[in-house]
Amino acid sequence: MSRLDRKPFASSADLGEKEATLEELADDVYAYTAQGDPNVGCVIGADGILAIEARATPLMAQRWIDVVRSISQAPFGDLVLTHYHAVRTLGASAFAANRIIATTMTGALIEERGLEDWASEQGRMPRLFEGADTIPGLTRPTHTFEDQILLDVGGRRVELRFLGRGHTSGDLVVWLPKERILFAGDLVEAQAAPYMGDAHIADWSGPTLDAVRALRADQLVGGRGAVVRGEAVDQAIEDTRAFLQTTLRGTRDVLHQGGTRKDAFELVYAQLAPRYAGYPIFDHTMPFNVQRAWDELEGIDHPRIWTAERDRQVWDALQG
Ligand SMILES: [Zn+2]
Repeated sequence: MSRLDRKPFASSADLGEKEATLEELADDVYAYTAQGDPNVGCVIGADGILAIEARATPLMAQRWIDVVRSISQAPFGDLVLTHYHAVRTLGASAFAANRIIATTMTGALIEERGLEDWASEQGRMPRLFEGADTIPGLTRPTHTFEDQILLDVGGRRVELRFLGRGHTSGDLVVWLPKERILFAGDLVEAQAAPYMGDAHIADWSGPTLDAVRALRADQLVGGRGAVVRGEAVDQAIEDTRAFLQTTLRGTRDVLHQGGTRKDAFELVYAQLAPRYAGYPIFDHTMPFNVQRAWDELEGIDHPRIWTAERDRQVWDALQG
């Protein structure tokens, strides 16, 4: 392949502004989706707002906060982080929230690899890091939990639950049992490519997505993509599962036949492309997805840390 035919690194050439959409899912429950960019949401209580996800920078967070301020002037009570990834955490300071809540594992991963992840994600997705100079440093949770905690947001029951290892080893979901609304974080994508670079793919594609599906949500807000409702909820879950399973199976076949990582990448890419190639970040994710599938199959349980250098090495080896 000539240099001109090479695909631009990750999402580095994706510079077009996305249009964001505010949707009221129930009284005082909102999702803010953006054509495949990371989604956010909130639940408004009279005394405090629960915010879900923080975006990549305080400047990007402030644009979302400005939208919230058109609805409510209440202070932010709890800011919930579904997992440790920089594009969802580093804008946290803009909320001035009372508490920042995540799982214990997410807190540990931020300590272990937060700085490397920040550099990696900023290099891969520069558009999402507008105002990077406004980031005061790593975002650390002020409150953590292992399995689940219950919150009361203006009299409404909100459950934060850990459903098993998946997109990372510490993802939580935000579940509103009465309204049957689920903010699934990156455990489910609605017509966007799942990212597996830090995942436990066998767990995610099996018991964890089973647990997500068992909630029987009426409305689901995935990590990226539009809000889905009714039958489209299970469709998004099964789309995500099929993507994961195809990646793991194809990589396993090549590994067992003595092939290379690049062979695995080419096989899995060809298998997924007919169904998924039009999804946001598909090309961006695939080298990292196959690399992690390869590592998992070789018995590396704790995902290796992505650094800006390792990102380029894997990209060049598989996609280059
Ligand atoms: Zn993520």
